[in-house]
Amino acid sequence: MRMAAVFLAAVFVPSLFLGYLALRTAGDQRVLIEQQAVALYQNDTDILAASLDAGMLARVQDFSTRVRELLAQKSATELARSFNADVGNEWRRLGVGFAVLPGGDLPATEKANADFVRANAAFLTNRLEAEVYPSQNRSVSDAAEIEPTKDRKAEKLAAASNPFTKQRNVAPQQAVLDVKRAQISKVAPEMSDFQTATSQGGEGVLARFVRNELEVILWTRPPEGDGTVFGIAVDARALATWVREIFERVAIPTDGVCLAVLNDRASPVALRPPEFVGEWKRPFVATEIGDALPHWEVALYLLDPDQLARSARLVTSTILALIALALAAILSGGLLVGLDARRQMAQVRRKTDFVSNVSHELKTPLTSIRMFAELLRDGRVSDPEKRTQYLRIISLESERLTRLINNVLDFSRMDRGSVTRRRERIDFHAALVPIWEAQSEHLREAGFTVEWVAEEPPYWVRADVGALGQVVVNLLANAEKYGGEAKVVALRSWRADGDLRVAVSDRGIGINPGEERKIFEAFHRSDDSLASDVPGSGLGLTLAAGIAAEHHGRVEVTRRSGGGTTFTLILPLAGAEGEA
Ligand code: ADP
Repeated sequence: MRMAAVFLAAVFVPSLFLGYLALRTAGDQRVLIEQQAVALYQNDTDILAASLDAGMLARVQDFSTRVRELLAQKSATELARSFNADVGNEWRRLGVGFAVLPGGDLPATEKANADFVRANAAFLTNRLEAEVYPSQNRSVSDAAEIEPTKDRKAEKLAAASNPFTKQRNVAPQQAVLDVKRAQISKVAPEMSDFQTATSQGGEGVLARFVRNELEVILWTRPPEGDGTVFGIAVDARALATWVREIFERVAIPTDGVCLAVLNDRASPVALRPPEFVGEWKRPFVATEIGDALPHWEVALYLLDPDQLARSARLVTSTILALIALALAAILSGGLLVGLDARRQMAQVRRKTDFVSNVSHELKTPLTSIRMFAELLRDGRVSDPEKRTQYLRIISLESERLTRLINNVLDFSRMDRGSVTRRRERIDFHAALVPIWEAQSEHLREAGFTVEWVAEEPPYWVRADVGALGQVVVNLLANAEKYGGEAKVVALRSWRADGDLRVAVSDRGIGINPGEERKIFEAFHRSDDSLASDVPGSGLGLTLAAGIAAEHHGRVEVTRRSGGGTTFTLILPLAGAEGEA
């Protein structure tokens, strides 16, 4: 009972707790795997977005270079007047060129850009503020410059209370982890007029939405231009082409995923693989490109979205199997340790019982020996028959003592493994005769009916006669001790299958079912009330089995029909005389 409590407290409950923790870990696998994938792919989209942002600013540099070339040939005022024409076909194909004079005035309108200038006049001449996304040029070649971009984004993000803060137009799946944050655009416009927006730095990109259409202006204020700002409003088609060029240049592996650049309407401008059709607004991860292309996104889609779930399931089931295995190992280990402890405790208990049993067994014969010896010594018994009877009792009790002491000594020797047996070729029938004579007489006196049914001798065996004799004596003594009311003891000896068999049968209390093996264990004594009244050491059968085994034989126990028990000593027969 106590052991069960200890097992429960020390092994079972902690294992259950461990199992629970491990199960929880297993449950988190899906999230973990998804997070890993998000981190991995987010890095890809971040790189592409940064390249696109940088690519746009590189165009600004190209544009500046072109303007400075022109300023080498013409004065700023002259160039301003015919800028759209002078800028050249290559640039004109991409958009509309214009110039804004230092005071904020527009020069006499060229025909070709008249529409653009008219539509934007109020903004360009600083009469109207508009929502703009300015981005000044930084050193494009310097990769370290990507960092400040992030800082700026973080700043803008912190200003989430900014009234201009916009929602992103895609909802990446990683938003599951932090919906609000992921949904807010990191690109926020500011209210500004053209002059203010272009006041910082010498060149830049200015993006704004005019009637929901993205307008991207590259501008430059070259030092040799007396403060005139030259600009070009880039065509949507040209933008898309630039984006595609950069997209093709940046080598990002797209195994199992689709990489896309989405414009501000969330429709793909560039795509790899090109045949992919997805729910554009629900990418797996996405990164906003930045102020140069506001609300454009680099988005990544999984070609096989179930793949993640599948690998998560695989990991989970592996973990579960491992948990089950570990728990089984812990529990069975605990159980084994527990059982072993119980066995050892039982053994200790049996040894204690043994000591008290043996003391008792020693005391009883000693008391009667002493009593009868004293009676005889004092000459108080005159009847010669009584004297003979007393002497016989003294000798029987001494025999019992000898047997007990022999058993104990032999057992301890056998336990230590220090017995050496001198085996010789003998006729075991001849060895049985004196044993039977002594024991049967004693049994008869104790009121037993006895018989020995023997097959024709000789029974040749190679044996230590003393030890085997002790086995038979022990079996006969048990038949007497546990012989019950019936008081019948039979000895049978015969040959069968190359073995000699010597069986001792009684009609006594019998062996409890399930105890057939245990009775051979050292110190084991049946709890049966009938048996426990009988004094004993629990060593007789242990010794019998041990000695038989030393002779390559065994002792078998069988329950007799009609009650009682038969113990059979089985020994291999040696060959006929003359053989080895
Ligand atoms: P002991 O007799 O000294 O207790 P044994 O090793 O000879 O030790 O026997 C072990 C147990 O086996 C006994 O305590 C008894 O319960 C049981 N046993 C042995 N022989 C018999 C028998 N002939 N009939 C019934 N039970 C027996």
